[in-house]
Amino acid sequence: MNHVAAEARSLEGLSINFATVRQFGSFGAIVDACLAHGVTAISPWREHVAAAGVEEAARIVKSNNMRLTGYCRGGFFPAADKAGLEKALDDNRRAIDEAAALGSPCLVLVVGGLPKGSRDMPLARSQVADGLAAILPHARASGMPLAIEPLHPAYAADRACVNMLGQALDLCDALGDGVGVAIDNYHVWWDPDLEAQIARAGRNGQILAHHICDWLVPTQHILTDRGMMGDGIIDLKAIRAMIEKAGFKGPQEVEIFSSQNWEKRPGEEVLKTAIERYLTVC
Ligand code: ZN
Repeated sequence: MNHVAAEARSLEGLSINFATVRQFGSFGAIVDACLAHGVTAISPWREHVAAAGVEEAARIVKSNNMRLTGYCRGGFFPAADKAGLEKALDDNRRAIDEAAALGSPCLVLVVGGLPKGSRDMPLARSQVADGLAAILPHARASGMPLAIEPLHPAYAADRACVNMLGQALDLCDALGDGVGVAIDNYHVWWDPDLEAQIARAGRNGQILAHHICDWLVPTQHILTDRGMMGDGIIDLKAIRAMIEKAGFKGPQEVEIFSSQNWEKRPGEEVLKTAIERYLTVC
């Protein structure tokens, strides 16, 4: 009994991103699996919420006393024409509404890369800044903080042209209240300025989420070959210590895209392994 209670307490610092255990299937099935293992914090994706219906998803969260650590995701602001830019803004406003309905502490933003056919990185980056500024009033009115997630530079063309924590924080500083960062170990572990930028984010209360997985050597695929914590080269405890020193004490969210490995294994095995690794190496 004491053992169970101790473990339940320590799992309060763990969140499961739905992408890690998508094999369980529906929103409700993933929540049930997490609860069965004592995990009470989650980070759902829009596809799971769309399939369940946002009201039903919110009911499942509330009736089970689950906490969200984020909602994935908004962003993808750059576009080749005005209609595309507007469409992205509308979609982001809907994502803000869904995140608010679910009681998420933030909406995670993968900001987008180059528009199709473009080689103009400065333009993409200015479209991101403009897009953020355009949705910010709605986010503020909804009480929904926006969490910019800087992605590894390998994603600059197709997923996110915000690639360093310092770059994301420059955007936050320019935009003002209601914007912060999601720090994902996978994307930032290599940054020589990491410790200083985490401290900077902490000073301004801009750390909204902490995502964890590991960087495998070699990495077979930049998107779909993320490692389980402990299987790669990221100093997980060192980065977590920087983040906690900077004042963020929220759960560590396990986010693993692994179509070659973990996604092929039973969800139960993935969840059990994630919990064990969280308790031992994070
Ligand atoms: Zn992430």
